[in-house]
Amino acid sequence: MEPLKKDFDVIVVGAGTGGTIAARFAAKEGLNVCLIERKSRTLKPAKICGDAVGKEIFDILNISHPKGEELSCHIKGAKLYTPNRQKSITMIDPKQTGYIIDRLLFGQRLLKEALDAGVNQFLDRTTALDLIYDKSSVAGVKIRLENGEKVDLNAKIVIDASGLYSPLRKKIKSELIENNFEDKDAILCFREIVKFPTQAQEVKDLEYISIILDQEKAPGGYIWYFPKNKYALNIGLGVYMDYGGKVKDLYRENVFKEFIKTDKIEILSSGGGVAPVRRPLWSCADDGIMFVGDAALQVNPLHGGGIDPSMRGGYYAALTAVKAIENEDYSLNTLWEYNVKVMQGFGSEFAGLDLLRRVLQSLSNADLNFGLEKNLLTASEILEIAETGDLSLSLWDMAFKAFKGISRPDLLLDLNYLRIHMNEIIKLYRNFPEEMNMQQFESWKLKINEEYEKIRKMIVDTKEAKK
Ligand SMILES: Cc1cc2nc3c(=O)[nH]c(=O)nc-3n(C[C@H](O)[C@H](O)[C@H](O)COP(=O)(O)OP(=O)(O)OC[C@H]3O[C@@H](n4cnc5c(N)ncnc54)[C@H](O)[C@@H]3O)c2cc1C
Repeated sequence: MEPLKKDFDVIVVGAGTGGTIAARFAAKEGLNVCLIERKSRTLKPAKICGDAVGKEIFDILNISHPKGEELSCHIKGAKLYTPNRQKSITMIDPKQTGYIIDRLLFGQRLLKEALDAGVNQFLDRTTALDLIYDKSSVAGVKIRLENGEKVDLNAKIVIDASGLYSPLRKKIKSELIENNFEDKDAILCFREIVKFPTQAQEVKDLEYISIILDQEKAPGGYIWYFPKNKYALNIGLGVYMDYGGKVKDLYRENVFKEFIKTDKIEILSSGGGVAPVRRPLWSCADDGIMFVGDAALQVNPLHGGGIDPSMRGGYYAALTAVKAIENEDYSLNTLWEYNVKVMQGFGSEFAGLDLLRRVLQSLSNADLNFGLEKNLLTASEILEIAETGDLSLSLWDMAFKAFKGISRPDLLLDLNYLRIHMNEIIKLYRNFPEEMNMQQFESWKLKINEEYEKIRKMIVDTKEAKK
């Protein structure tokens, strides 16, 4: 066994999608990288996931697309169903096509490619326990090795990609980084991968992922029905965190019973997890440290998809680390660039979608049935929102919608008010302060909070008016 090395340019914690990409691109640029993972190098058991990922990220990072056994099927688009199942909106967009993957094989491939890129030391079955500080800057990680021994590892920069419940984020001594997230900003999920071995049932709509909005059966979230092949699917639901302890029962009662019509099944995988559904952390970096993926709440708030943003986050963090090490400056001043990339990039889209998510969660099944049946938002408009977090409507479009929504002017007015503030918040995010300047940052936060407050008030007022 090789002797344990203790000094690195970068320590990456967590070999999930975010951490493996961060480690890979930092190593590729010649940095001395240590990757730490709590699980064994097989990465078993696989992350509980819906297994859906868009194609775009593979082109952006110029890495191989899933293929062979790692690829379960190709996805053309998404079908969005009303709660009463009377109507579905089909969304097809070349940029929205994607894959259903075998999550374990996909994760193992990303890990192998990171190690092949030149990661200097990979420690599996190793847990990061705490941060080490040099004055007020993060300067390493306290770890527990497989044999139980506790060791300090030093690094110029730590990249934390250890997932939503990151122990390092919880322990960081920082005014800037939120240690915790609120329950209302996360969704509790349960899903199974169901196989029909005797072909007693066929999976519907093989080229589409289906999403069913239903505030009674999946309060605060949605039901998903994602094909893996003709005789297997990934099916589950997400609900408010208040349903802790009951989510499996909800799944059995509200999802399994409706969609699984035969008892001749094999459950390939079964389990739950928590997905954050809010905009990223206010700051994803501090002196000597950057947070990536779920650890930084970098997840699409509309559907909880976090594979793509964690990979983007990992890539941006690696690029920023390379520059910081070239400049021999690991302070927030230099790492701020990572914040700028995140906030002005997918962060702006996610901030807009976070507002939309809050409004969607406040709608009743009757509102959702009405809105989608009357096409208050068309497939292309939903796609535009989903892709950019933004919606630009002409005066004509608005007048036409006003006509269609004539019997529910309240809903239409709310949607228009939401649209205006989604645009507003996106603009603010795109103007995230380019340089680290705490005064500018605080005033930016204030403006963001004002947008959130306006939407919160609209939701409360609408509820009051309905009473
Ligand atoms: C039920 C469910 C379904 C989902 N479906 C989808 C989907 O279909 N599509 C999609 O894009 N996203 C989906 N997501 C979200 C997506 O899975 C995550 O956003 C994404 O995996 C985040 O990647 P990550 O690398 O940030 O974190 P993770 O994948 O959580 O990786 C973190 C890694 O860190 C390791 N680790 C944790 N603590 C320590 C420690 N102390 N020391 C060392 N290592 C540690 C873990 O073992 C893990 O390997 C889903 C989430 C859930 C819960």
